[in-house]
Amino acid sequence: MRITKSFAETREVCSGAVGLVPTMGFLHEGHLSLIEAARNESDTVVMSLFVNPLQFDRDEDLVRYPRDLERDVALAAAAGADFVFAPEVGEMYLSKQLTRVTVNGLSDELEGPNRPGHFEGVATVVAKLFAGLQPDRSYFGRKDAQQLAIVRRMASDLSMPTAVVGVPIVRESDGLALSSRNIFLSAEERDAALALNRGLLSAADLVEGGERDAKAITNAVYFEIGDYLTVEYVTLAGQELVQPMTVLDQPGFLALAAWAGKTRLIDNVHFDRVGDGFVADRGNRLTDPSVLYATGEN
Ligand code: AMP
Repeated sequence: MRITKSFAETREVCSGAVGLVPTMGFLHEGHLSLIEAARNESDTVVMSLFVNPLQFDRDEDLVRYPRDLERDVALAAAAGADFVFAPEVGEMYLSKQLTRVTVNGLSDELEGPNRPGHFEGVATVVAKLFAGLQPDRSYFGRKDAQQLAIVRRMASDLSMPTAVVGVPIVRESDGLALSSRNIFLSAEERDAALALNRGLLSAADLVEGGERDAKAITNAVYFEIGDYLTVEYVTLAGQELVQPMTVLDQPGFLALAAWAGKTRLIDNVHFDRVGDGFVADRGNRLTDPSVLYATGEN
């Protein structure tokens, strides 16, 4: 496993079909599932690891973001990555970044209003990764559903020759969606956070049972989580344009953000069209506790 630091060096070591997995590090099985998907479809797998200052709307969050390069490199290698591209901030942003990528409309709802500038920061760094590394395919988690929609649209609008692949959410055995931020949860907060998956599962059951009314679907989630967490939003949105829907009449996802103490959590369930109906993507559950907890960090 080699760690590369510059775009030029990384391009040089890549050959054949290149699969890119962009991450901010502190890996867990969600990231590893992206690497495995890339491994199956690529000759060279590059995982980028860059905690992107441009996408943090709260400085506190950027400083607090967990980092452990050595650990990440070992996990990425075991999952099948060939290279870890871990640029310094100075390589990524050689001089003041005057060009920004905005995908109009797709950040107006859900995460957008709560995190000003976040998606512009994400789209800009992903555009730089696509331009600088020229991957054939790139892999993103459905965990960040709005981000996935924005990256897809950006690649399509800007005629970028990179296929954007969405990968199901990986969850702990009890349903909690994996997130690098989970290490900040106390035992009580972690217990409370399980309400998120309970809520999404009851919404999934409703939809698969034929419910199409957004109010009824979102209410099922509020009912499960309202007593345990501070809810920021629960919204049913279209998969392509991330527009809120009052009726589920096209592929969509039910997304939420909630606070467990000082930790902000997001989760969702996608509703994919199958035949005349919708099937909920409940994600994939681990059987053992995540590698997040094997670090002694918590
Ligand atoms: P991050 O390091 O948080 O920026 O995430 C890097 C990539 O991993 C993004 O495409 C995320 O959507 C994806 N990801 C994060 N958590 C999960 C998860 N639990 N399951 C699947 N993908 C995930």
